[in-house]
Amino acid sequence: MTFEAVDFNPGEARTFADEVATASGQNLSACYQCRKCAAGCPVAEATGFFTPDRLIRTVVMGDEKAAQESPLTWKCVSCYTCGTRCPNGIQTGKITEALKRISKKNRVYPQVPKIASFHAAFVSAFKRRGRINETEFMAGYEMRHMTRLLMDFNFPAIIGESFSQARLGLSMLKQKRLHIGLTRVKDVKEVRGLFSGADESENYKE
Ligand code: SF4
Ligand code: SF4
Repeated sequence: MTFEAVDFNPGEARTFADEVATASGQNLSACYQCRKCAAGCPVAEATGFFTPDRLIRTVVMGDEKAAQESPLTWKCVSCYTCGTRCPNGIQTGKITEALKRISKKNRVYPQVPKIASFHAAFVSAFKRRGRINETEFMAGYEMRHMTRLLMDFNFPAIIGESFSQARLGLSMLKQKRLHIGLTRVKDVKEVRGLFSGADESENYKE
C-alpha cells in the first residue's frame, strides 16, 4: 500500500474532525497516540496500515477520503475493546460507525467495494425481519455486488463470483448449513425502532 503526503489544511481538517466528533460523540482531540487501542483490536491484522490510533490521526489530519474508505472503517466489528483499553475512553468503534454514515452520505466507497455491498445487505435484511436469514441476506448481497461488477463491465469477475457462490451454496446445502426458510422476530417494529434514531443515510442508495 502506498500513501501520498497529506495536503494539510488546518481549517478543513478542523471542520472534518468536528463533524466526526459530533457524529460519533467521541473527543478525538484527547487522543495522544499511545496505541493501547491498536494492541487490542481483533481486526487490526486485516486492516493494514489502519489501526484505531492511525484512523483517528487520519481524521484529525483532515484526510477525509482515506478515513472514509479505510479498511478499519468497514471491517470494525464494534467490539469496543479499543475504548475499554483507551486511557481517555475514546471508542473508535463509534468513530468507525460515524465514518460509515458519512461515507454513505458522500458516496465514498471502501477500498474493497464489496464490503459496502455486504454491509448494506446485512443492515437491510436485519431491518426487514429482525434477524438474518442466510439465503435472503446472500441474495441481497450478490444482487448489489453483481450490479457493481456489471456497471464496471467486469464479466470475468461475474463468472468467477457465480461459480464460487454456487459451489459454496451447494457445499453448505450438503452439510445442512444453509437454511432456506424465512423467519422473523415476533416484534420486528421494535427492531426497526432501534434504527430510527440512527442516520442510515436516506441519501445513500446503492
Ligand atoms: S488508546 Fe486512546 S489515547 Fe491511546 S492511541 Fe488509542 S485512542 Fe488514542
Ligand atoms: S471496536 Fe472496532 S476498532 Fe475498536 S477494537 Fe473493536 S474492531 Fe477494533
